[in-house]
Amino acid sequence: MIPRFKFDKSYLLGVGVTMELILRNARFKDSLELFDIGIDDGKFISIKKNIPEKGDEEIDLGGRFVSPPLVELHVHLDAALTVGEPRYNLGGSLLEGIDIWSERKKILTKEDVKNRVRKALKWELANGVTRVRTHVDICDPTFNALNALIEIKEEFKEYIDIQIVAFPQEGIFSFPDGEELMRKAMEKGADVVGGIPHYEWTREDGVKDVIFAVALGKELGKMIDLHIDETDDDHSRFIEVLAAETIKNNYEGKVTASHTTAMHSYNNAYAFKLLSWIKKANLNMVTNPLDNSVLQARFDAYPKRRGHTRVKEMDEMGINVSIADDSIMDPWYPLGLGDPLQAAFVFVHYGQMSGYNEMMRLIEMITTNPAKAFGATDYGIKVGNTADLVVFDAPRAIDAIRLVARRYLVIKNGKAITQTKPYETNIILNGKKEQINFIK
Ligand SMILES: [Zn+2]
Repeated sequence: MIPRFKFDKSYLLGVGVTMELILRNARFKDSLELFDIGIDDGKFISIKKNIPEKGDEEIDLGGRFVSPPLVELHVHLDAALTVGEPRYNLGGSLLEGIDIWSERKKILTKEDVKNRVRKALKWELANGVTRVRTHVDICDPTFNALNALIEIKEEFKEYIDIQIVAFPQEGIFSFPDGEELMRKAMEKGADVVGGIPHYEWTREDGVKDVIFAVALGKELGKMIDLHIDETDDDHSRFIEVLAAETIKNNYEGKVTASHTTAMHSYNNAYAFKLLSWIKKANLNMVTNPLDNSVLQARFDAYPKRRGHTRVKEMDEMGINVSIADDSIMDPWYPLGLGDPLQAAFVFVHYGQMSGYNEMMRLIEMITTNPAKAFGATDYGIKVGNTADLVVFDAPRAIDAIRLVARRYLVIKNGKAITQTKPYETNIILNGKKEQINFIK
């Protein structure tokens, strides 16, 4: 059982207290031993079983699970918190979601986007996320959403490192002036080149979409992250084009493939060959269990496919796979709270990742794996690194997944920026009151 304790509220955001800080009794993953973490001048300066020195401030974590910050590798902040506007997605399909979004886009203003994004980013921060890659729909000649995100990126830079993907939601070759809009978006300040080949009107345009994105990324020296094969159609095979273009352009490691749900439905002989190309191209793969568990197989009779990409197989082959949210209350997914851990919890079930080692891998898929795809440096709880970490209100990693545990404390640059009080549940049986906490 985790002891309850109080700590000095002066650590909270805005007070600006700097420190020497020692976090006592932290647990990494499911380690039996507990560690102390010493922080000074925003850096980790000591990590050992028992730091003998005294800190100006000390916080006893009581054996709670501690990890590096979470990385949200795939989210659409411009659409966040628009669920029900102007209408709800009744059929539940991806295409209906795109139709609703194109209606909502007509009344988009910069302030509207900024207000929603600020709120969503605070949720992400409170969930321990300090790096976010957001796709922004650039099929809009006003660029209201992109302009809003560029300003927000600056506004939040002390707390969250934001990468903006120029995302052609309605296609590069199926939307008027798509190529020009992509170029302009990159000139304006987008960080990553996007694409959506499976949504282009024809197979040929889809191939052109991939070739265009890789060429533009290489020309500008930018990373690339495509929505690709997000369909149940087993003939949607643009990922092979992306792998080939990446290899031909010597761009290995800088390219990410998001969703790739069609891979669920490929025949095994083809999938086997494909995975070896994905590995050779060193593609970073992202799965989005919240959205794709509800969007996929909408057109299936029974039996219904699960419709996720082949995470287990790719992870076993050493391909870098990440789990991300995709949506926070938008036309594609009505729920969500900007928490990659919640997405990982869903993937335990949806992807049958309930083996002990598999669940441990899920923690990597929301921390170190997306950090690698993001190109993060100075990442991890190591002496000399910037002191960024997350404390889960759970004693072990496995409990953090099981409980989708609240983040007890989030530390950024050595300062506590969010704090969540533990839940307290009291049960009264036979007149006797007892506090329970759902820990074995
Ligand atoms: Zn997406």
